[in-house]
Amino acid sequence: MARRTRPAKYSAFGLVRRGITKQSWPRVWREPDWKSAYDVVIIGGGVHGLATAYYLAANHGITNVAVVDKAYLGSGGSGRNTAIVRSNYLTPEGVAFYDRSLTLYNSMSIDLNLNVMFSERGHMTLAHTDSALRTMNWRAEVNKLQGIDSSVIAPREIKKLAPSLDVSPDTRYPILGALYHPPGGTIRHDAVVWGYARGADAHGVDLHQKTEVLDILCEGGEGPDGKGPGGRVTGVRTSRGDITAPIVVNCTAGWASTIAGMAGVRLPITTHPLQAAVTEPVKMFLPTVVVSGSLHVYVSQTDRGELVFGASVDPVATYNMGGTLEFTEELAGHVLELMPGLSKMRLLRQWAGLCDMTPDYSPVMGPTPVDGFFVDVGWGTYGFKAGPVSGEQMAACVATNRTPELIEPFALSRFTDGALVGEKGAAAVGH
Ligand SMILES: Cc1cc2nc3c(=O)[nH]c(=O)nc-3n(C[C@H](O)[C@H](O)[C@H](O)COP(=O)(O)OP(=O)(O)OC[C@H]3O[C@@H](n4cnc5c(N)ncnc54)[C@H](O)[C@@H]3O)c2cc1C
Repeated sequence: MARRTRPAKYSAFGLVRRGITKQSWPRVWREPDWKSAYDVVIIGGGVHGLATAYYLAANHGITNVAVVDKAYLGSGGSGRNTAIVRSNYLTPEGVAFYDRSLTLYNSMSIDLNLNVMFSERGHMTLAHTDSALRTMNWRAEVNKLQGIDSSVIAPREIKKLAPSLDVSPDTRYPILGALYHPPGGTIRHDAVVWGYARGADAHGVDLHQKTEVLDILCEGGEGPDGKGPGGRVTGVRTSRGDITAPIVVNCTAGWASTIAGMAGVRLPITTHPLQAAVTEPVKMFLPTVVVSGSLHVYVSQTDRGELVFGASVDPVATYNMGGTLEFTEELAGHVLELMPGLSKMRLLRQWAGLCDMTPDYSPVMGPTPVDGFFVDVGWGTYGFKAGPVSGEQMAACVATNRTPELIEPFALSRFTDGALVGEKGAAAVGH
């Protein structure tokens, strides 16, 4: 199939024309022929892998790129998350980084010519204790210094923004205040994945689904088979054959440490399931995203009227993605502490995804001790909102072989240098 340089136009006219002529829609991306050599192989077809491929092609003209995924595009956390975006982090490094992502999300529908349904509805993190309130004030000050719209508001303002919240002082966990961040909101995660996929495809990037990476091929390293520090990457072994490539990028989130291990690179990452649940749809009543760290719960209402609930990660490290009754029971209890009026609502479904947790709750991005092997991992419960900026910056890192300033603080070397970027106070539950 001939390669395009821009994705086909979606337009109202096209919709009407196809409705009248009953023409079916063309494939959104090609099913490419198998090639045994690329300039860059990206492992993982989530938002991070696809965004990196897209910006490599769009910003740097590097198009001989393959994205390989063992399942289908978006089958990992990128298709399972609760789609919350915000930039009100705790460290200046985190705030600057996530703010760039929000900027890219703001223009994404136009840039990718696909409506990604960005809903800038505001994001509110509740404080139930004095110490939580202190952290909110700290975050608000750091945010303001970076030019981010973020402030601490009192219970009466909280009630105005989210009338269904119980802000009375007599509850078990009274709401003392909240960090309010108007630029935060939600976005359609599947649209973002598809937008980047069709954008990358239009530039000639090959998207190989159902292609599992079984090994990373290296030479010259100090470990077995030439892997490990001091070596260089030469390609990947997949379930469909070997691919030769001088650059391999690991964008596999929950599976990140297994893939890095194949190159002889150790990552300070453990994998934990994160669960979420959604209710039946009801009339719109919750205009903002509401998060309670102390109660381990957050909630937003979709455009269809469903309430989407999430929590913190399951405590046990595992690759099991099954949902549990314990989660649902705890979640329901905590939700009713906040919004007693929801007691009659029915849950429709629950699901889980895998999260790659680092000790300081910040990502790991950039080169590794194996030459040509890059990582964009450690996304924990907060990596969806970081997809655009990560793709943009990782593409620059790979294309120029220099680490851009925005991701410099997130280098793997920080775990040996001790220069950690402590984001637990802003990332533990507030996805
Ligand atoms: C329930 C839930 C709610 C969340 N809510 C939010 C939120 O509201 N906001 C937010 O910012 N973040 C949220 N997150 C986190 C976010 O979803 C992830 O951080 C993000 O999607 C990671 O994207 P990714 O592209 O790095 O990885 P993924 O989307 O997980 O993609 C990794 C891909 O790697 C592939 N892969 C793995 N091993 C191999 C192999 N051997 N060979 C080939 N391919 C392989 C997988 O099939 C997968 O498709 C949530 C996560 C979950 C689970």
